[in-house]
Amino acid sequence: MQILDRRRFVATAGLLAGGLALPGCATTGTGRTQAGCLPPVDVSANRIIRTVAGLRPYRAAGFVVRAELLGDKRLVHNYGHGGAGITLSWGTSKLAAELGLRGHRGPVAVIGCGVVGLTTARLIQEAGFPVTLYAKALPPDTTSNIAGGQWHPFGHFRESEVTPEWRAQFLTAAEYSWRRFQIMVGEDYGIRWLPTYSQTSGGLEAQLLPTFPPRNRLLRPREHPFPIETLSSYDTLYVETGRFLRQMLRDVQMASGRVEVRSFDTPADIAALPERLVFNCTGLGSRSLFGDTGLEPVRGQLAILLPQPEIRYAFTGEAGYMFPRPDGIVLGGTFERGVWDAAPQPDAIARIIASHQRLFAGFRCTA
Ligand SMILES: Cc1cc2nc3c(=O)[nH]c(=O)nc-3n(C[C@H](O)[C@H](O)[C@H](O)COP(=O)(O)OP(=O)(O)OC[C@H]3O[C@@H](n4cnc5c(N)ncnc54)[C@H](O)[C@@H]3O)c2cc1C
Repeated sequence: MQILDRRRFVATAGLLAGGLALPGCATTGTGRTQAGCLPPVDVSANRIIRTVAGLRPYRAAGFVVRAELLGDKRLVHNYGHGGAGITLSWGTSKLAAELGLRGHRGPVAVIGCGVVGLTTARLIQEAGFPVTLYAKALPPDTTSNIAGGQWHPFGHFRESEVTPEWRAQFLTAAEYSWRRFQIMVGEDYGIRWLPTYSQTSGGLEAQLLPTFPPRNRLLRPREHPFPIETLSSYDTLYVETGRFLRQMLRDVQMASGRVEVRSFDTPADIAALPERLVFNCTGLGSRSLFGDTGLEPVRGQLAILLPQPEIRYAFTGEAGYMFPRPDGIVLGGTFERGVWDAAPQPDAIARIIASHQRLFAGFRCTA
């Protein structure tokens, strides 16, 4: 099992153990802190308030957005987002809605109430159609609730398995999603901008979109306190997933959406629904429901520490990742392919804590 570097998959968390002999940035004689100093995260096992694990719906060939006929119905798939479901949700849902709604009249069914089902339902309502959301589980009991909530497309496909057509869908989805999350920044949805410090092997963060990531630059050692030789920084959005999903569900209901807790075992169950247009947003559930064996679980484990409101930056690197949220400091994580058990493992959690303890204990100066 490995600690997850959201930029790269690095097999060890031990690289930071010895620290690096970089020049420090001590506080000045005037008592003012120098630029580049940050408050460290207070990492210890007794600050853990909960541990969680979730199964990412991963497809090496990337997410599926496509339409097919199911008896007299149009069925539009929108699933398989791997480690990027929060990030891409609005975007793939926009593609799916455009595919499904063309020429349609009447009510619409959405199956699944994670981030993908909820964004799909809202876009359909915004287009003027009545929606019923059917789902086996509602927030807070979805995989989407487990997500750390960084806006960054990560861990959702394998380069050698995707087609140019899929890549075009991906960029269109990323572009729309990036814009849509930006206009939702604020307390209601629990979305905020944070600078992110990202360990690199010398290069900049890849520029996926003309505007993502913004403020993308390499840092000199005196510009940051991390005991790391090469670091870049950029700004991105962070979503407090529990709050976001709760508000999204309210939005669906406020716009007269119906919600029905219900499980579907086969496509025939779906064919029996009254709606003639159905969106499949069942995430990992699509494997058994539609026999998509290309879909596999990738378990991720997180330790959540007591909140520290003074931490207003995020980190990703060999130690793992740290996203500060109002509901706790999220420390991640693992990326365990093919594991179906969604229970946190004490040994993995202990490794996540230890790697972050070393990282923050190595800070060269503090604010
Ligand atoms: C530890 C961890 C950290 C992550 N961090 C990030 C991050 O920082 N950024 C990011 O973008 N992504 C992140 N992700 C990925 C993200 O969580 C997923 O990609 C996303 O949640 C997938 O959303 P979904 O709506 O497709 O699936 P889900 O949230 O699993 O929702 C599926 C819905 O379908 C329903 N359903 C399933 N099967 C059936 C059935 N047969 N009948 C009826 N209903 C059914 C479920 O009950 C549920 O309501 C992370 C994931 C994990 C595990």
